[in-house]
This record gives sequence, structure tokens and C-alpha cells, in this order.
Amino acid sequence: MVPSTATIERAYRVRLRLKPAQERVLLRLFGARRFVWNWAIRRKDEAWRADGTKLNAVALSREFTQLKASPETAWLAELPREPFNQTLRDFDKAWTNFFAGRAKRPRRKTFGTVMSARFTLDQRRELVDRYAGRVQLAGIGKVRFRVSEAMPGRLRSITVSRDAAGRWFGTFTADRVPAPDAGEATAAIGIDLGLKDVAVISDGVSSRKVAAPKHLAAHLRRLRRYQRGYCRQRDAAMVRQGLNPAKRIPKGTRIVVSNRMHRRKAQIGALHAKIGDQRRDHQHQLTSAAVDDAAVIAIEDLNVKAMARGMGRKAFRRGVGDAGLGEIRRQLAYKAKWHGRVIVTVDRFYPSSKTCSECGDIHTGLTLSDRHWTCAGCGTEHDRDINAAKNIRREGLRLLAEGTGPDGRTRRSRGTEAREEDTCAAGRTSPIGQPISLNRELAYRAATPRTTRQRRDGPALRVEG
Ligand SMILES: [Zn+2]
Repeated sequence: MVPSTATIERAYRVRLRLKPAQERVLLRLFGARRFVWNWAIRRKDEAWRADGTKLNAVALSREFTQLKASPETAWLAELPREPFNQTLRDFDKAWTNFFAGRAKRPRRKTFGTVMSARFTLDQRRELVDRYAGRVQLAGIGKVRFRVSEAMPGRLRSITVSRDAAGRWFGTFTADRVPAPDAGEATAAIGIDLGLKDVAVISDGVSSRKVAAPKHLAAHLRRLRRYQRGYCRQRDAAMVRQGLNPAKRIPKGTRIVVSNRMHRRKAQIGALHAKIGDQRRDHQHQLTSAAVDDAAVIAIEDLNVKAMARGMGRKAFRRGVGDAGLGEIRRQLAYKAKWHGRVIVTVDRFYPSSKTCSECGDIHTGLTLSDRHWTCAGCGTEHDRDINAAKNIRREGLRLLAEGTGPDGRTRRSRGTEAREEDTCAAGRTSPIGQPISLNRELAYRAATPRTTRQRRDGPALRVEG
């Protein structure tokens, strides 16, 4: 193995141990960041309505300095300065994205939605002791953290956040991190990402299933029960105050929160945190195993947006959202980059589930609930997910060989094949870490005849399965 001299950027997440006084300052800071965001929105609107002025970042920053100097908002000046710069930068970026059509119009943030703050780490000073687990934060003081891994590289910033269970975390970003030595890997694998239960990895010879964490489903059920309970309690509290629970709470009205409601809320938070931990663990296991094993990783390109549209919001959250597909893809992309692996994205209209991986026959009668099926062409008995993983692998290799190229161009297969095949075989590879843009996706969709698009074996069909 050749030691590599390449460096990468990455993040380290550590558990923080804060003093109660530090917690209080940080919580005030989070609230103040929300205050500043909402203030900025108001100022931008006012300036626009008054004389059509577009307040830019510089002007807003100047006004913010005045805001801190005025007596009513002088409390802002008592808090660490740095995270506010971040707020204003984020604000500016949000508008840029909005005007570029990439995002919705920035909105006011509601109570409790801002739960983090970023501090840049001055490189000229020794602010982090990564062995003893201490970091010096401007305006907060020395914060201790649990050292859970060596953190090589240059630590650039730390984002402090609090989760739903009240635990505090710090996420360091680092650059100039020596790239990990990529082991020898020659295999090509296909991954079928199950939406609920399992992901299946096939290397062409054998397949293995990575099951969803134990008890996850039970935790989700319990979470739903807790949430229903909380809603009932809140409705009852509204009735006691003479309000109609079916209507919106009038502005300025505070619902009296009972001790029972506080307890319920804490339970919900703790459960959320637990579920989050389990998911993260599972996802990291899956993506690390994939990157360790293979030089080439083929995955389905699940266009999450398109899926959300087709399935309706609720089903989407339950299925795709829950499985954290986006997160899995993100992890695969950056881990592949670290290890120098290639990721091939197989188009989502490729019929990975119903094509026989032995003879290529298409099993048209495959329904959502069929976990197993027998090929009419060659008689092979298939496990639905393993068969899909094999097909994804094969299709990925085909695309790679075809040289769709690392430029991520869309290419439709030429073909005398069946019409369905024709549509479905269109696919593309994407260079690692570079998601295919929505424009390309739309261009592709526009180039595809509607009738064939409708007959798809998309992941949407597998949600119930
Ligand atoms: Zn067959």
C-alpha cells in the first residue's frame, strides 16, 4: 500500500460537557440568533417597502452594529459576537438561494428551532486541546468535551448544538486531514437501499443484508403514542383556558403547560434522540462496510424530491424520510471520496426489482408485497432485494463500461430493446461527491416519453413492502 499524501476535509462530532452557566449562555445565544434572523427579515421587508432598497449583507451588518448599541437591544452585545456573523451570512445565503430559484423564501424562525451556534477557531491561537478534550470558545470560556477519537488535521470551526434530549454536542470541521489509506479493493458492489428494513449489498457472488436496528420500529410506535398523548394534553389545556383546540392559538396567548406535559415532552425528546442515534449508527455501519469492500459502488439514484411528489408528504416522511436515504447517499459520497472509490448512480427508472438477474426476463406481475418470486423465463427463485442488488451492480458496471463518463452526462441507451427497457436503461454515472443537478434531472425527464415513464418500477412501489 502506498501511503498517500492527499488530504481531505471532514468533521468530528464530540459530546460536550458544559457547566450550567455555559448552558445558560448558549441557550440565550441560540434564542438571540433567532431574534437576529427575524429582525433581519423584518428590516429587509421594511427597506424594500419603504423605497425599494435591497438591503445587502454589508448594509445589514452595519445596521446590526447599531442594533447592538441601542439601549433596548444592548443585551445582544453581552453575548458572543461570532455566531451572529454566521447568522447574517446564513441569512444572506438564504436570499441568494431564493433569488437563484434554489430555495424557498426565507421565513421567520419560530421558538426553539435554532439550536446551534458556530464558532470559528482562530488558527493563530491554541484554542483546542484535542488530547485533554478542551476547547476555548469566545464569550463562553473553556468547554470540556469527551475525546472519542483522534482528530487529526487543522480544526477550523466548532458548531455547538443541543439535541431533543438535552444533550450537547460539538461538531468540529477540519481540513488538511491525511486521507485514510484505501485498502486494496477490487470488488464492485450493488446496493439496494430498502426503505424500511434492510439494505442489501451484492458483490456479484454473494449478498448480505444489513438489517435496520433492532427495536427501531418499536421505538417509532412508542414515539407516535407519546406524541398523540401530548396532543391530547395540549387540547385539554386549551379547553381549560376556554380555547377551541381545532382552531389556531390566538397570537400572544400562552398555553399553561402542566408538569405532566413537561414530563411527556422530555420523554418525547429522549426518544427522538435515541432513534436518531440508532439511525446514525446504522447508516455509518452500512456506508463504511460498502466503502471498505469495493472499488466501485453502484446505488440507485432515488430522486427524493420526485418521490415526495408522487407519494404525498406523509407517506414520504414515513418511508423515505425515515430511512434517511439522503443521509446514506451523502455518507457514501464523502467516504468514497476519502478512499478513492467510484460511485455509479443507476437511474431510478431502471427496473431493478422485477428484472431477473439470471436471464434478464422482466417479471411484470411483481407486486409490492412479493418478497420472493420465481422467474418465468429460467425458473430461478429470487429474493426480491438480493435480486435488485445484483441488478443494480450489473447496471452500474454497464454504465461505467459504457463510459457515461465522470461528467455526469445523461445518456439514453440506444436501442432495439423493449420500450420499457429503453427508458429504464437510461442512466448516468456521477463523479464522487458531485450530485447530478436538478436541471439535468428535468432535462432527462423531459426527454423521456410520459407513457413509458408511468410504467416504472420506482422505489415508490417498494415503500409498503
Ligand atoms: Zn430468469
